Amino acid sequence: MSKVLELKNLSYVYGTGTPFEKTAVNNVSLSIEKGEFIGIMGHTGSGKSTLVQMLNGLMKPTSGQVLLDGEDIWANPKDIRKIRFKVGMVFQYPEYQLFEETVAKDIAFGPTNMGKSGAELEKAVNDAARFTGLKDELLEKSPFDLSGGEKRRAAIAGVIAMNPEVLVLDEPTAGLDPMGRDVLLSQIVQYHKERKNTVILVSHSMEDIARVADKIIVMNKSNLVMFDKTKEVFSKGRELEEIGLRVPQITKIMLDLREKGFNVPEGILTVDEAM
Ligand code: ADP
Repeated sequence: MSKVLELKNLSYVYGTGTPFEKTAVNNVSLSIEKGEFIGIMGHTGSGKSTLVQMLNGLMKPTSGQVLLDGEDIWANPKDIRKIRFKVGMVFQYPEYQLFEETVAKDIAFGPTNMGKSGAELEKAVNDAARFTGLKDELLEKSPFDLSGGEKRRAAIAGVIAMNPEVLVLDEPTAGLDPMGRDVLLSQIVQYHKERKNTVILVSHSMEDIARVADKIIVMNKSNLVMFDKTKEVFSKGRELEEIGLRVPQITKIMLDLREKGFNVPEGILTVDEAM
């Protein structure tokens, strides 16, 4: 395996020199291998969003470096936009960024900007729609006529259509009903299996992360406090509790099943939520 992303002493400070100065990410160093599925968890305000926005050059680190395939993404600031094609970012509530006349045009926006056209563009759009479970008949509709869940899928499809080397999703299932969450998560897993690209998923839901991630980054108060295989992280129940993250029983059962090679059935998460 080879490294796709390497973070070196990465820090981000909001409002430097003002009374509101706040270190949101403090001296984070870690490496992510190509093809890994990484989960990021931590409380609200722990620095997760700031961290991931530095991965695609949307935010420039106050200090430290982000290396993509061994190169500092800020080596040529003029080229920073190209990094956004390589590290695709799905923000929280991405459906608010839909703006084209049709769903197909919306999904095509990114790949068109990358220079794709004709059959190649069409394939990128259709593949992305398939990965996110968008039916063909929706592609010619206005994005504003879609349901909430469909809009979310269309927005995610727009990022997947760029075939990014690294796909970052910040709380992609937020606000969806349990069924919608399960289905979307399964589709992301399927995408990861087929494309074998790196996926980074930020989530509040330990169940979601336990179900899909190979490794987990735990953030607490701007610091990286754990980065290890999923099983290892969840085996440190007491340390997680100390930072206020309680591992639900169902998550332990699910991990056990995964360990034994079972596919964790869809719908199991809804049982936990009902308890
Ligand atoms: P998370 O994604 O884990 O909820 P964030 O990265 O959004 O965490 O925030 C980390 C810290 O940075 C928090 O204390 C938050 O209040 C602060 N922060 C986030 N965005 C801004 C901003 N635009 N200006 C000032 N502080 C911010």
